[in-house]
Amino acid sequence: MLKVDNIYVNYGNFEALSGVSLEIKEGEIVALLGSNGAGKTTTINTISGNSKLMSGDIVWKGRSIKNMPMYNRVSLGIVQVPEGRKLFPYMSIQENLFIGSYLKQARKQRNRTLEMCYELFPKLAERKHQLAGSLSGGEQQMCAIARGLMQQPELLMLDEPSLGLAPVVVDQIFSALKKINEMGTTILLVEQNVMLSLEIATQAYVIELGKNVMQGNCEELINNPDLKKAYLGL
Ligand code: ATP
Repeated sequence: MLKVDNIYVNYGNFEALSGVSLEIKEGEIVALLGSNGAGKTTTINTISGNSKLMSGDIVWKGRSIKNMPMYNRVSLGIVQVPEGRKLFPYMSIQENLFIGSYLKQARKQRNRTLEMCYELFPKLAERKHQLAGSLSGGEQQMCAIARGLMQQPELLMLDEPSLGLAPVVVDQIFSALKKINEMGTTILLVEQNVMLSLEIATQAYVIELGKNVMQGNCEELINNPDLKKAYLGL
């Protein structure tokens, strides 16, 4: 479905990515792991078109999209849920969700998708007229994910959905991600929570200092001694 092929990305003179590659097959949950500053956000920003690549390629269903503007990538079905949620705090939950369905195709099915989001996250339904800025961190993350779903993504890319949330809320978010995937959406999950990510994903890539350092099947990676030592403190 998506191939990230040896991408290089610079911020000024600083090389943030120096040859990152990964592949996502339809129906998978793929985890992109690595410590602070490894280049995870830059990688998904480059896939969504938010960061510009210097070289390498992004290939969607066999076609290069590296020169395609961000809004066209959204209409292909590539949707990003940004780190820090980036909701519109003075708008209600429902208004934030409607903003997610601004493209024609998604707008036509807006009410049906909204119902699906409310079934997935009943707390959002209970509070649909509440201002997004007054929600708890967990509810804001649910709202950000639901806003992404309103665009009817084929590939949903999530940047640190567990950041700053209590373990019980993280469990709710991760079980919602599983359901979203079971309903047919492919997921790219950027996370610092290595253990939870390996439990939910099928494939994982680890990057450090802008380069691939490890990749493989999650069941195997969970038992990999180097990964355990570096990321799980075991
Ligand atoms: P984190 O988990 O802390 O968000 P990350 O793995 O997502 O880290 P990135 O945010 O992609 O990493 O950052 C990769 C590197 O690029 C870091 O060294 C960061 O300081 C740098 N960087 C990111 N954004 C910019 C920017 N806009 N200008 C300059 N440097 C940047």
